[in-house]
Amino acid sequence: MANIRNQDSWVHSGEPEQATRKAMDLVRMAVSKVGLLNPLPEIVVGVQQSALVIGGGPSGMTTALELADHGFPVHLVERSNLLGGQARFLYNTWKGEPIGPALQEMDARVRSHPLITLHMESTVTDAEGFVGNFKSTIQSPRGPQAVDHGVTVIATGGKGYTPTEYGYGTADRVYTSIEFDKLTMMGDRRINDAKTFVFIQCVGSRELGRMYCSRVCCTHSVQAAVQLKEQDPTREIFILYRDLRTYGEREELFKKAREKGVVFINYELHGKPRVTQLDPRQLEVVVWDHILHEPLRIVADAVVLATAIVPSSANADLARIYKLSTDADGFLLEAHAKLRPVDFAGDGLFMAGLAHYPKSVDEAVAQAKAAAGRAITVLSSDRIGLESTKATPVLANCDGCALCLDVCPYHAISLVEEATAEGSRSSHIQVNVAQCKGCGMCQATCPKDGVYVAGFSMEQITAQVKAALAL
Ligand code: SF4
Ligand code: SF4
Repeated sequence: MANIRNQDSWVHSGEPEQATRKAMDLVRMAVSKVGLLNPLPEIVVGVQQSALVIGGGPSGMTTALELADHGFPVHLVERSNLLGGQARFLYNTWKGEPIGPALQEMDARVRSHPLITLHMESTVTDAEGFVGNFKSTIQSPRGPQAVDHGVTVIATGGKGYTPTEYGYGTADRVYTSIEFDKLTMMGDRRINDAKTFVFIQCVGSRELGRMYCSRVCCTHSVQAAVQLKEQDPTREIFILYRDLRTYGEREELFKKAREKGVVFINYELHGKPRVTQLDPRQLEVVVWDHILHEPLRIVADAVVLATAIVPSSANADLARIYKLSTDADGFLLEAHAKLRPVDFAGDGLFMAGLAHYPKSVDEAVAQAKAAAGRAITVLSSDRIGLESTKATPVLANCDGCALCLDVCPYHAISLVEEATAEGSRSSHIQVNVAQCKGCGMCQATCPKDGVYVAGFSMEQITAQVKAALAL
């Protein structure tokens, strides 16, 4: 392929004459390679038609149920002794649907499904293999167990940030959003009898250390404010925000809150609100009002902190075990945000839910269904064809120096030692073609032409360079 569109006309649209000369170079280079091409054999591997799902929250349970309902055995691993994850502490979805009953139904279906094997109080401690042929070690209170599976779905969820600011942990009646939901579900008098509420947004989000938006907290606070107003319209509700992100149809909730008299006050990062305990039942919140240009003082019966969502501590271990990428904040990173949004870069590995980034329950469930769908594309056949562009050792040149082993991002290369005819021992590399992604790092590193990627031999590359330089 001579890519004269993306790599030429698009990027040089302002220089048509030079772009035309470059197009001629690119075509000449492609033609020089064509004469040296060899057919690449199709690589086919068998598939173990079962799945491993890590994480027993709504995403993990949804993925497990989708796969099992399609007839594939699933090992579902949950490190606690309960299914449901953090969603157990949430009251409603943003649409007002109660979360508890939906979780209970899912829990019952998972526990009774004949194709789902539950591993409670368990973690994955080791794994080997490749798409269609993974072997993972599950550590449970009964000891280690090795399971074979064709795909892995990581749905380890997230958790709430524990604040150190706004009097949390020292003042009475300062709650995180999750604690507020718990107290609401329990009908606690500290919520039921309270008249004035202050919600503080972006607690731990969008500031140094966690620059990302936690995405769900604005909607949660606005929805809670609407419910509190519907229960008692005489209540006073204040939402102190930096930017309000009730995205998409959630904007309706924001409009409703405004109509019901919820007061929204903007604050800046350099002028955060101050919370002081006045007495065991009341708190004083002081916030700078940018419109009045003076501080506002609110006496509140409860302060609710919209805390950040942080990644599960399991992500780092799983990233090491399955060779996954994480972002700077510790969330798992997809292969491509638009083209492969639930895949990891490695084949047969998928993600769902808050392990990826903060999201609402409905978005997590939708992503879990997408991950199951992607996993089924692997599991639906007992064989899978792999890309043919793979690293190919040249045994006559490779002296087993092992330089390429360290650079391979997919750990596809290993050393083999053999006895020579003279009675000594020699070593050379071998490539696991199922793991190799044909990235070429090994070829670029090897100083002895001991390995090349099929379709990119030194002969082919040299021919292209010569064509480019018109030698
Ligand atoms: Fe060393 Fe090259 Fe052989 Fe890798 S392929 S072990 S870098 S000689
Ligand atoms: Fe590893 Fe890339 Fe070489 Fe394949 S081409 S063996 S993935 S370094």
